Amino acid sequence: MIEILTPAEVDKARATGALVGAILQSVRARATVGTNLLEIDRWAHEMIDAAGAESCYVDYAPSFGRGPFGHYICTSVNDAVLHGLPHDYRLADGDLLTLDLAVLLDGIAADAAVSFVVGTPRHDEDLALVDATERALRAGIAAARPGARIGDLSHAIGTVLTAAGYPVNTEFGGHGIGSTMHQDPHVTNIGRPGRGYTLRPGLLLALEPWVMLDTDELVVDDDGWTLRSATGCRTAHTEHTIAITESGAEILTLPPDA
Ligand code: MG
Repeated sequence: MIEILTPAEVDKARATGALVGAILQSVRARATVGTNLLEIDRWAHEMIDAAGAESCYVDYAPSFGRGPFGHYICTSVNDAVLHGLPHDYRLADGDLLTLDLAVLLDGIAADAAVSFVVGTPRHDEDLALVDATERALRAGIAAARPGARIGDLSHAIGTVLTAAGYPVNTEFGGHGIGSTMHQDPHVTNIGRPGRGYTLRPGLLLALEPWVMLDTDELVVDDDGWTLRSATGCRTAHTEHTIAITESGAEILTLPPDA
């Protein structure tokens, strides 16, 4: 199903997106060397509750996970890239952490992710991985406007990732979002321009470039959720929810200080 939101629903999406951006910014600022991933989960839980919102993750039980997820935020460290299940682990200096958060407020969902190095960066390639996903996301957003095709966005994202030298996995990518977190259309992180669904005002998309340094293969952790690089290499993932507007695209999940 592809949902087209009314202007009133897009207003609600702005509120949900602002909440997601604020929670991610706050949690990111507090996640330092020695922070336990379960503390990060508790902070997210508290902020979601305080806002009167609901987690999209706690009861989430898709075919690709050993559901329900049972936590409020995804915490993926180093070789973990997607769906990182919070567990009893204290962040170490130089860890490359991805936080991914989706929340439902007043019936509309928003989804965003950020990758960053905790403490002192130890590897130049960590910063390069993060930078590539951020640039790819900006390119995808720049391509998003009424009349553009999903393939145009995939192509824009994939061109940046490929030029940076990273293989691109096509199993998991961006997606439509609205009254639920995951909807059609699927937005692969590489693709051919001029193909796929034509964007219209009122469409919400979560665009999420992610990469692994030297592989496009994932392995599932013993926890049944966390997806890691098959080679154990470092990874990064950046995501925003955007609304297609009459004139282009509006980023809904920016942090308050952006
Ligand atoms: Mg997403």
